[in-house]
Amino acid sequence: MMDAIQDAWNGLNGWLFEAAVQPALYALGLMAWAEDAFDWMDFFMFGLLQVAIVYAICRPLEAWKPVERWGDRRRVRVDILYTMLARLGILPLIAFIAFSAMESRLAGLVADSGWVPPTLETLVPALREYPLLALLTYIVVMDFGEYWRHRFQHTFGWWWALHSIHHAQTQMTFWTDDRNHVLDDVIGALWFGGLALLIGVPPGQFPLVVIVLRLAESLSHANIRLSFGAVGERLLVSPRFHRLHHGQGRDLANKNFAVLLPIWDWIFGTADFRRDYFPPTGDGSPADAPVHGGWLRQQMVGLRRLGAALTR
Ligand SMILES: [Zn+2]
Ligand SMILES: [Zn+2]
Repeated sequence: MMDAIQDAWNGLNGWLFEAAVQPALYALGLMAWAEDAFDWMDFFMFGLLQVAIVYAICRPLEAWKPVERWGDRRRVRVDILYTMLARLGILPLIAFIAFSAMESRLAGLVADSGWVPPTLETLVPALREYPLLALLTYIVVMDFGEYWRHRFQHTFGWWWALHSIHHAQTQMTFWTDDRNHVLDDVIGALWFGGLALLIGVPPGQFPLVVIVLRLAESLSHANIRLSFGAVGERLLVSPRFHRLHHGQGRDLANKNFAVLLPIWDWIFGTADFRRDYFPPTGDGSPADAPVHGGWLRQQMVGLRRLGAALTR
């Protein structure tokens, strides 16, 4: 059964690669990247599958137990566009190509100097024998990195200028996960890819780490009146936990920065485990503010805010 699914998946990807990707690479003179492109198309297709899975899980939950009901879902639609742009893997693809090019050059330099950079697996050799343990360790370390990236987005004025676009959404749904300024996406990809290289996440495990964190993030933004209970709330980020971070009102945005594991908020004193609290979301900007316009307008607002923060 699993073999049949695997075969069908490989068959579909192989066909798509030969029909569309390979001719494009050939035309662009990028055939040297063919192998990487094939690996990444697999991931790209998995991204599509991911959107389908997230939709299949979150959409019925949102219909069943929504925090808010809206007649007009216009503001949700722009977040769907954000998701399509981000999840089709354009940014991760650019980051991956840039990094693997840089890495091979760095690897050459390092090999010449005779120095072996430490990775988690060289520090803890046991990880090599237990791939599942290694994967879990990478997820925990990457999640720790994401906690601090998110915290810095709220700490530095210039970074908040970009991240404020994410927080402006008043109709928050599982699509809101990807509502980010493009520049913020680029910085995020560099941050994530840089940390992954630093700790030596193997390329085969990298997509899995991305998928686990992204699934957690989508669910945490969903418009669902759902908390994981006294214990569960402390183990995994729930829709209640992250909604509080998006809540309108003083200081809520300085709480609950975690993406997957609330333990970081717990350790660093930013956790708010208040039960059954589902505040309205957004930054309080009026309904006709440009930040509620289309994708392009929101991107321009982000750039303007960035310029103001940098020249202040
Ligand atoms: Zn935030
Ligand atoms: Zn968020």
